[in-house]
Amino acid sequence: MRILVTGGAGFIGSHLIDRLITDGHEVICLDNFYTGHKRNILKWLNHPYFELIRHDITEPIRLEVDQIYHLACPASPVHYQYNPVKTVKTNVMGTLNMLGLAKRVKARFLLASTSEVYGDPEVHPQTEDYRGSVNPIGLRSCYDEGKRIAETLSFDYYRQNKVEIRVARIFNTYGPRMFENDGRVVSNFIVQALQGIPLTVYGEGTQTRSFCYVSDLVEGLMRLMNGDYVGPVNLGNPDEYTILELAQAVQNLVNPNAEIKFEQLPSDDPRRRRPDITKAKTLLNWEPTIPLQEGLKLTVEDFRDRIKSD
Ligand code: NAD
Ligand code: UDP
Ligand code: UDP
Repeated sequence: MRILVTGGAGFIGSHLIDRLITDGHEVICLDNFYTGHKRNILKWLNHPYFELIRHDITEPIRLEVDQIYHLACPASPVHYQYNPVKTVKTNVMGTLNMLGLAKRVKARFLLASTSEVYGDPEVHPQTEDYRGSVNPIGLRSCYDEGKRIAETLSFDYYRQNKVEIRVARIFNTYGPRMFENDGRVVSNFIVQALQGIPLTVYGEGTQTRSFCYVSDLVEGLMRLMNGDYVGPVNLGNPDEYTILELAQAVQNLVNPNAEIKFEQLPSDDPRRRRPDITKAKTLLNWEPTIPLQEGLKLTVEDFRDRIKSD
């Protein structure tokens, strides 16, 4: 199959491309390198089944493909809030263009949506039928509301134009190739511990997240794309940790003497987040297999190599 991956030079996209090419597919990677990096896909640049196109998805493009994994969008709060209007354009105009493309060539289209559509949830753990508690005018809205309209667009193209869509609601994902300056909690803590500077815990560190290792996530995305269930479906690891527990896990792994420093909690920071993955388990026969300790170890090794060679 010929498969388009938008945002393929990013963290999750590049891991997905590794799997798709290894499975024998032809892959087109579309990326504007806003947060993505060529080094993530370097090993495929001369591969006969790989093609890289530098393109911003807010502009139309015509391609011939069988499947589209639509991942292009900055995912870390630091990056998506740097230029919020651009984040909205990427989610609205970018998703519209990719759905228009899917419609024209009759390709199956998978949207990488997010647990952020649930906002600061009143329901715990989050099931797919929970409609969310999102602030439409806050600092996170460009991303949260952007993804909500991306889901709306996907379902309208499905109902109106019979585009074959799949919608994944991805929960916090981590692993090798996260950017050092990404600003997300796992990369921040690992870089800080390796550099011997204090780990920055925002607020009191009592807020929770559930962290999924990237290879598990990629497996879930591929099962969703190739199965019959449209979604939306939660993909994430249901093991829930406080941010302080995560800091301690990184301390234990990298540097037990690393200090912890408490900083101000950003506005609209969700207090709890954990996926209910009953749907993914029953409909996709999927569940995560890599526990946090193991995934963190693999991630630390990757950061250690990179920070040494920088
Ligand atoms: P990332 O920032 O590493 O990757 C995003 C990629 O999209 C980058 O390569 C970037 O250059 C590209 N991009 C951004 N805007 C673009 C545009 N206008 N045109 C073309 N390319 C553009 O992020 P990631 O962690 O790999 O996330 C991938 C997808 O998964 C995103 O859609 C994100 O919202 C979703 N997601 C990620 C997580 C997570 O924890 N990592 C959680 C929920 C959802
Ligand atoms: N589009 C694209 N590539 C294609 C087909 C469509 O980028 O191969 C864009 C197109 O420019 C439009 C959007 O996708 O802005 C939606 O396309 P659709 O055909 O659904 O709507 P229309 O063009 O009729 O507004
Ligand atoms: N966080 C933190 N220290 C950091 C970065 C993030 O305590 O250096 C917290 C942040 O406030 C949030 C959680 O960790 O409560 C997860 O943040 P991240 O940006 O990784 O993802 P998201 O908030 O989008 O889930």
